[in-house]
Amino acid sequence: MLRVVVLGAAAGGGVPQWNCGCPVCLAARTERPELKSTQASIAISADGAHWFLINASPDLRQQLIATPRLHPEAGKLRHSPISGVILTNGEIDAIAGLLSMREGSSFTIYAHPKVLSILKANSIFNVLNEKVARQSIELDKIFEPTLPDGSPSGIEILPFAVPGKSAWYLEGEVHPAEADGAGDTIGLRVRDKTSGKHFYFLAACAAVNDDLKSRLASAPLIFFDGTVWRDDELIAAGLGDKTGQGMGHIAMSGDKGAIASLAGLDIGRKIFLHINNSNPALLYDSAEREIAERAGWQIAADGTEIML
Ligand SMILES: [Zn+2]
Repeated sequence: MLRVVVLGAAAGGGVPQWNCGCPVCLAARTERPELKSTQASIAISADGAHWFLINASPDLRQQLIATPRLHPEAGKLRHSPISGVILTNGEIDAIAGLLSMREGSSFTIYAHPKVLSILKANSIFNVLNEKVARQSIELDKIFEPTLPDGSPSGIEILPFAVPGKSAWYLEGEVHPAEADGAGDTIGLRVRDKTSGKHFYFLAACAAVNDDLKSRLASAPLIFFDGTVWRDDELIAAGLGDKTGQGMGHIAMSGDKGAIASLAGLDIGRKIFLHINNSNPALLYDSAEREIAERAGWQIAADGTEIML
């Protein structure tokens, strides 16, 4: 059985964002505390005892405190059920949480060489000492993360390239990998070896192309990039000068948006994750939320547990 816990559902900044007074952030701080959400990450396990994080958000410490399954085992002085972290990109909201895992427990980081090169180029990550292994993963090649004793986890993961871009802070810089091409943004198919049940995880995706459509068709469950409702919403709301596309994120709405592009693919359960606080679909009574839900989408919430 594959267990999934949504540790955080929000995009970078979370809800509320520290310096934001937009309607969603304002409501989350005042009369709608249920809107509060930490930055996107999920935890997965095949045996219920050993867990792998998909991305390590800056809110990781808070997320682990809120999730008893991820606490140290009773009676052990030092322990964590977390066996590894799989990274799908090099953005701050996917990697900064690694710095909250620096207290000497061993685990393995699985990432594409382009993302590993970012960690290597930033000496602050050297705080993750020799007990933390860094394992390179290849596009379109299944890997099985291992437990601390080296035994197989029972989870098969297939990384694949999705339309996207390298991390925001590398814009205009030479990539530490000194290489072009895919790898900065990946999607994952996560499969339980015993049952064969699987789901897809895409926290960042700039467009839905035919390759992605054919992968996601008939999937039982997908977590999909829900950063913005419309491409220019940050600009229109006076919150910033970036479009969704400029940040490597497809919009939920519009002819080429996620809702329209993924309609009719016979996907069992569709969950938006990595949702920016500017996105009106976060508000329970908004027209945008209603449109998303009518199209069969769910808006992820922190703490949601799913068993496959
Ligand atoms: Zn806001």
